[in-house]
Amino acid sequence: MKSKSICSMLAVASLGLCAAASAAGLIPEPNANAVPLATKANPETLVLDARTAGRGFMTSTMSIPVEPGPFTFVYPEWIPGEHGPTGPLADISQLKVSANGHPLTWRRDKVDLYAFHVDVPQGATAITVRFTVLLNSPDVMSTPNLAVVNWNRVLFYQNDINYHNYYLKVSLILPPGWGYGTALTTTSHAGGRVDFAEEPLTYVVDSPLDMGRYYKQVLLWHEGTAHQWLDMFADAPQDLDVPAKILGAYKNMTPEALALYGSRHWYNYHSLLVLSNKVGFQGIEHHQSSDDRAPASFMVNPKWQLIAGDLLTHEFSHSWNGKYRRPWDLTTDNYQIPQRTDLLWVYEGMNQYLGDLLSFRAGIRKPSEYPQYLAAIYTQMKTEPGRDTEPLIDLTTAAPFLYEARGEYPSIRRTAGDFYTEGELLWLDVDSIIREKTHGKKSLDTFLHLYSEPKFTGPITKTYTRADIEHLLNEVVPYNWHGFFQRHVYEVAKLPPSGELKRSGWRLVYTAKPNPFIQAREQMMHMNYQWLSYGFNIGRNRALLDVREGSPAWNAGMAPGMKIESVDGQSYSPSVLKYVMVQAEHTHAPTTFIVSKDGWFQTLEVSYFGGPRYPHLVRIPGTVNMLAKIMAPHAKH
Ligand SMILES: [Zn+2]
Repeated sequence: MKSKSICSMLAVASLGLCAAASAAGLIPEPNANAVPLATKANPETLVLDARTAGRGFMTSTMSIPVEPGPFTFVYPEWIPGEHGPTGPLADISQLKVSANGHPLTWRRDKVDLYAFHVDVPQGATAITVRFTVLLNSPDVMSTPNLAVVNWNRVLFYQNDINYHNYYLKVSLILPPGWGYGTALTTTSHAGGRVDFAEEPLTYVVDSPLDMGRYYKQVLLWHEGTAHQWLDMFADAPQDLDVPAKILGAYKNMTPEALALYGSRHWYNYHSLLVLSNKVGFQGIEHHQSSDDRAPASFMVNPKWQLIAGDLLTHEFSHSWNGKYRRPWDLTTDNYQIPQRTDLLWVYEGMNQYLGDLLSFRAGIRKPSEYPQYLAAIYTQMKTEPGRDTEPLIDLTTAAPFLYEARGEYPSIRRTAGDFYTEGELLWLDVDSIIREKTHGKKSLDTFLHLYSEPKFTGPITKTYTRADIEHLLNEVVPYNWHGFFQRHVYEVAKLPPSGELKRSGWRLVYTAKPNPFIQAREQMMHMNYQWLSYGFNIGRNRALLDVREGSPAWNAGMAPGMKIESVDGQSYSPSVLKYVMVQAEHTHAPTTFIVSKDGWFQTLEVSYFGGPRYPHLVRIPGTVNMLAKIMAPHAKH
């Protein structure tokens, strides 16, 4: 996953109740031991009527194989790639159950809110379950022109089965004139109805579908029978006119990933990309596809590529790192069994580095831009006060809650995003240690070739432990990897890993010259970065996004959510703020801010005289530029 915005506190609460009751021996733990009644020969069928998707709802009708007597069907709770109990339970409505045409009474379990009980009458071999799926709260999954279908949101299945052995056959009724893209195999497509081949439940849920009025499919790469596709769906047709230069860089994704890993664990891969300002910015990984959602102009504006050009490469890399190789305790046999997220510092942390690396190697971003990007993320991690008490391992362990965290003071609480960003620093450090110790003969690429062997398997999962990772690294180059991860991940680390900067021939400085990566982010995200100067960032509507503890703004009493009304008597604008800041360098007079919050105004004096400050990496003379070597293309383009 890249980032997300799903809220399901109800699910989290139900989990707590479940755990307590299970511990007391009252409630059976979720398991995968039941005999699956939906087989390849007699699968559960699901028809999704999506003709109303543009109006914010769809109707799902299932036929679930059953046996007479008490029967429990469940709604997927722990969603792979979302790393939490995020199944959107509140989006289920108008639920009806019947058998042989007669309505059946259903009741929700009082403790496990994701479970529904019915009594199946004698003679019935299947129940029909029909419900309305609400699409746009808390996430936006559809607009009048497109929709994202995550199958886990539209289905129920038999409780306690192993999802590798439980079969599902899905069909889709499209809105008139809409196209679709998915990794599922189409068996027929006629009159707006599409039927897909029956597959194990895990494979169906692992194969989301995008559909829309305006769409374009581009073949990015092929070799023999293997293909990689880019399936784009936009709210406006002009957003599909991707410049040849940008598209050309995306065609390098597969060659660079094959060079990086030396293997492939998919047959045909679809990068499914929604381009819309209504649907949130995020990406979710799957074995043979990714569910990518980006702003409308993402593929036509190079600035978006500079600040977020790793969206598709991050999710693509997950096909190897996350889907094929996966932490043992994050790997479960159905969606009701809780996932443990402690090893996300490998799954997501290493992937943050690899997704970025692939975007630079492919040419989606220029390799020469990486040092300034690194300066920005290093500074972000270094200046978070929350790191003084919060080790990375607690951020990953608490990920299901932290992904949902909203609101103020993210730098004090720390966020789920931190184990991505700090993970990049951590794994760049690992890469630079391997390169230094082997005099450039080996690198993290060497580790990844071992990590993802054999050369080809198709979409299966091979699990790992922390010890497996350390063992494999020791095969590449002997080093105290256990102590290294202990220091940087498992204990409080007051600074992010820093060896990689010097080792790669660079050092961090702060100057008045804007950092181009931060500048692009300011422009595209409508924010004003003053984190190293006054100690705040300003978002849309002049509101402070966060205030750095101990900074001049903090000392003056500023807080997130306050709106900056004026600066030294003038209405706030970024240029006014910059003018006043430069003046104060000479006058050494405090700056007067009028701020407002909840209808209350305050005048605050901020004593800051250091002028504009931005992070940069500069070369250490006489050293090898390891970053240039790492980010240079590795495949023949
Ligand atoms: Zn991810």
